[in-house]
Amino acid sequence: MSVRHLYIHVPFCHRVCPYCSFYKHQHGSTDLGEFVTAVLVEAARSRDLFPLELETVFLGGGTPTALSEGHLHRLLSGIREVYDWNQVKEFCLEANPRTITASKAKMMREIGVSRVSLGVQAWDEPTLHTLGRDHAPAEAEKTYHTLREAGFPSVSLDLMFSIPGQSLKVWVQSLQKTLSLAPDHISAYNLNYEEDTEFFERLSRGQYREDTEEDGACFEVTMDMLESAGYEHYEISNYAKPGHRSTHNESYWLGADYLGLGPSAFSTIQGKRWQNLPDTARYMSHVKQGVSAITAQEDITEEKRWVERFGLELRTSRGIPLSLIDPAQTQMLDSLTRDGLLRVEAGQIILTRQGKALVDPIAVALMG
Ligand code: SF4
Repeated sequence: MSVRHLYIHVPFCHRVCPYCSFYKHQHGSTDLGEFVTAVLVEAARSRDLFPLELETVFLGGGTPTALSEGHLHRLLSGIREVYDWNQVKEFCLEANPRTITASKAKMMREIGVSRVSLGVQAWDEPTLHTLGRDHAPAEAEKTYHTLREAGFPSVSLDLMFSIPGQSLKVWVQSLQKTLSLAPDHISAYNLNYEEDTEFFERLSRGQYREDTEEDGACFEVTMDMLESAGYEHYEISNYAKPGHRSTHNESYWLGADYLGLGPSAFSTIQGKRWQNLPDTARYMSHVKQGVSAITAQEDITEEKRWVERFGLELRTSRGIPLSLIDPAQTQMLDSLTRDGLLRVEAGQIILTRQGKALVDPIAVALMG
């Protein structure tokens, strides 16, 4: 079976946000031209290792658009030359408002980028300040219009809620502002306090506190406002106008194989998962020397895959197959159904509106 999805990790950010747990860093002394060369060399090698029929290509990070226009052009055009592009339907980049110019956007569009996911996070100064973001609200709005003018067929705005100091009212205003721009897709994430982040330390020190009731209220109002505005709620944190779902992410949630390039990138192919070195300098040096940049590999056992399906597929509007439920959990399934948290439809277990707010405990309860 061919691999249809490609992810490329570009780890550079202008500024590191205190809540972020991805592998990223400022480019510092990294030779960005050499970085692009390393990714293209890794891409060319991968072509000989796996049957590839790419349908989606996603550049994330980090901030892919933190690369200069020249480096980004070389990376995007180089990737297009390495792989057979005939079946690619979605070519997506994550972007930060600070890192897009009209000229860069035009270049991206001309090279075939079809979707941009813009990390706005919030539309008010105090929340952006708490998040340590390096852009102002007006800058994000200007960047959004720049992307529109460049003619991308699909533009997504990424937002976050339950941020310390951000009231429900401020979140509603953020949603209203977002809707006034009519993006094709909206990602709305509940802030997670990930270990090894500054936010987690602040939480541990008692400087921040979690409020599940407030989280629930923000989630509810998000569903209400975005669904009323015509967005499909197709995954817990993702909403799309018809025809604008992220095919790449949806394939990942549904367990498709994907190839990852770049430092720290994961690949999952034919029952195996591996990760590249989460160290840009070592990754580049390994690729240059023709040595494998893989740091860890594991088999995806049936049990592991079963657990992952509860963690990923249950979050989607498609739900999980009823056949995944252990017969010993039938009573639990009935009880959750009676409580109005899920329904069974055409052999699939699907969360109700009420159940979506409780996806994690429901997944745990169903696994037993
Ligand atoms: S810009 Fe994005 S990837 Fe970079 S640190 Fe901030 S959240 Fe993380």
